[in-house]
Amino acid sequence: MAREALRLPENVPGDFFVDESCIDCDACRQIAPETFRDHGGRSSVHRQPATAGQARRALMALVACPTGSIGAPRAYDRKIGVSAFPEPLSENVYFCGFTAESSFGAWSYLIMRPENEGGNVLIDSPRFATQLVKRIEALGGVRTMLLTHKDDVADHKLFHQKFGCERVMHADDGAARLGAEVVVRGEEPFQLDPDLLVIPTPGHTRGHVVYLYRNKFLFTGDHLAWSPNRQTLTAFRSVAWYSWPEQIRSMAKLLDYEFEWVLPGHGDMYRADARTMHRELERCVAWMKTK
Ligand code: SF4
Repeated sequence: MAREALRLPENVPGDFFVDESCIDCDACRQIAPETFRDHGGRSSVHRQPATAGQARRALMALVACPTGSIGAPRAYDRKIGVSAFPEPLSENVYFCGFTAESSFGAWSYLIMRPENEGGNVLIDSPRFATQLVKRIEALGGVRTMLLTHKDDVADHKLFHQKFGCERVMHADDGAARLGAEVVVRGEEPFQLDPDLLVIPTPGHTRGHVVYLYRNKFLFTGDHLAWSPNRQTLTAFRSVAWYSWPEQIRSMAKLLDYEFEWVLPGHGDMYRADARTMHRELERCVAWMKTK
């Protein structure tokens, strides 16, 4: 719960504010950029919501914030923000909101599928928040949880206990220690089911993997994201904990696949037709080689 007494001085006057507990995860700025900005090391409100639509996005940011750093008077109905998640992105793919501090506000996603098509899939773990869990339960629960890497596992255990979902993770990121039921090994891609391909992408961590759904949606964890500043696909050199050269090699491997969405854990999402995406990925690999 944000505290007025800790309100950052960079906020403009008005109802919404960010307090000193902000960890600068970027979620609010992506969800409600008309309200929140980066003032350097933290977020603050640069413009108070002026329309119902802007207030709704600000309330979504409020419930998505991993540290409860966003404040607003009680008169604003939190249910508006809560009920917006999971938020539809395209087809049967949803953004979960409700980020967790333990994964530094990493983003997670839900694929909704009937049981006879494999059931619902969570990609990385959101915060185990009662409101979100109830909504996911009403949508059919979780059959499978795909974990991209060890940083963003957050509340995986609680989701497993609640829904009995099988967790998929690479051995080299501690899958056995975390109790994953399906352990990925080596570097060969493999088909988890007819629509889901597991692609090992060592680099950010040794056991990082990305997941390709229907040759359209690529869930990229901390491997690949869109940079709004540079207007290009990008990778994060400063957090290549395992190996930057390996990450470049893993990135080049993705040129063999077709996809239209990049859905990351950190950084911005990106959508383009497959040809444009391929061109952007080539640019990204070339850029990485200069770093
Ligand atoms: S979502 Fe919360 S923690 Fe993340 S940048 Fe915004 S205020 Fe800070």
